[in-house]
Amino acid sequence: MYDVVVVGGGASGVTSAIKSKKGDNKVLILERNSECLKKILITGNGRCNYFNENQNIDNYFSSNIDLINEIVTDNNIKMVKSFFDSLGIIPKIRDGYYYPFSNQAITIKNVLLRELERKNIKVKNNFLVTEIIKEEDIFIINPNTDNIRCKKLVLATGSYAYPKTGSTGMGYEFLKKFNHKIIKPLPALVQVEANFKYLKEWSGVRSEVKLELYENDKFITSELGEAQFTDYGLSGICTFNLSVLIARGLDIGKREVIKINFLPFVKEDRLTWLEDYNKGVYGRSLLELLEGLLNYKLAKIILNMAGINYNAFFDDLTLNEKNLLINNLFSMELEITGTKSFDNSQVCSGGVSLTDIDITTCESKLVKNLYIAGELLDLTGKCGGYNLTIAWLSGLLIGKSIGDDCD
Ligand SMILES: Cc1cc2nc3c(=O)[nH]c(=O)nc-3n(C[C@H](O)[C@H](O)[C@H](O)COP(=O)(O)OP(=O)(O)OC[C@H]3O[C@@H](n4cnc5c(N)ncnc54)[C@H](O)[C@@H]3O)c2cc1C
Repeated sequence: MYDVVVVGGGASGVTSAIKSKKGDNKVLILERNSECLKKILITGNGRCNYFNENQNIDNYFSSNIDLINEIVTDNNIKMVKSFFDSLGIIPKIRDGYYYPFSNQAITIKNVLLRELERKNIKVKNNFLVTEIIKEEDIFIINPNTDNIRCKKLVLATGSYAYPKTGSTGMGYEFLKKFNHKIIKPLPALVQVEANFKYLKEWSGVRSEVKLELYENDKFITSELGEAQFTDYGLSGICTFNLSVLIARGLDIGKREVIKINFLPFVKEDRLTWLEDYNKGVYGRSLLELLEGLLNYKLAKIILNMAGINYNAFFDDLTLNEKNLLINNLFSMELEITGTKSFDNSQVCSGGVSLTDIDITTCESKLVKNLYIAGELLDLTGKCGGYNLTIAWLSGLLIGKSIGDDCD
């Protein structure tokens, strides 16, 4: 009989196991892969952006928005930071984004694996959990075959995102059987697909833009940063951040439109700015004029969209043509038709409703001694280290609660 079994050896599972281990309590991790923390290696483009200094709750999404600030608290964030301090991980911090100083995700993986060994935490790799039941106060894992028993169970199986790393959504099924409410998981931090005439033409271009999201013609939010223009639509961090809301909106039949501002640095009146810019470089055709501002592929698309000849001159345009040009330069409309699938998405939005857990311990309110960690929860972060923050934070809250019980 184990005191604690953790199903899933990802970021949240390993953290909860490390923190749960107290004295001679028996802690076991069951991981389907040949080793724990496989996903960590591909995070942050192999560098692992494991935390972010800016913990404003606007960086998080949940269908219970009012509960976010009860979990992302100053104290909980301090706890995450001290956990990494205690592991001896020195951060390299860029604009608030934390990476290990080695710039290698494997540092995080190795340090955590060493901590498991140091604390004598047992790990069974290549172990697929297929069934969990509870009889009286005891959880039984794979009752018809392995029959592993424990007093406390942590579910840390991740979501559907990036299934080739082992997270195939099995945790949702276990939790449904224990009557938990699952907010529909949808791909998040993912590329979006668009219905647009010039996808082939802009494919491969990258540009600093402002993307404004509209749902059923209502402005929702905007993101500033580098967009990657592709033959299916848009990619890049600012697109990923919008994708969380886009996937939810499309799922309930909302019309999702991104308006692209190609010149986000222009703060003054747009017509006046363009007139002044044109004066400064007098004698250039419109294509030449726009090429001074933008990738030439985008310049051509903008003129095509506005129906203006490349060789025309700004001063010869009618006011109506100038306004068409301004519309396409500062708010080109892109109708979003979908997102890429779970195979491409970094995370899932949705998951176990935060109303089903005790927010201070991540213990289920429905099943005593059952804890739910990481991406299984209906709490999603933007790009920038926020999703791993949720994984560490929930793992630490669980471990602290279980560890305190062992004192
Ligand atoms: C390409 C990519 C880049 C990312 N970059 C970042 C980043 O830089 N910063 C950031 O904050 N976040 C990033 N993320 C998101 C982050 O990696 C996840 O949010 C985080 O790993 C979730 O941790 P978790 O413990 O909940 O789940 P996971 O890490 O998915 O771990 C779940 C584990 O459970 C195991 N498992 C599942 N089912 C079973 C079962 N039935 N039996 C046994 N074991 C099972 C899986 O094999 C897996 O090891 C990235 C994600 C991807 C895909």
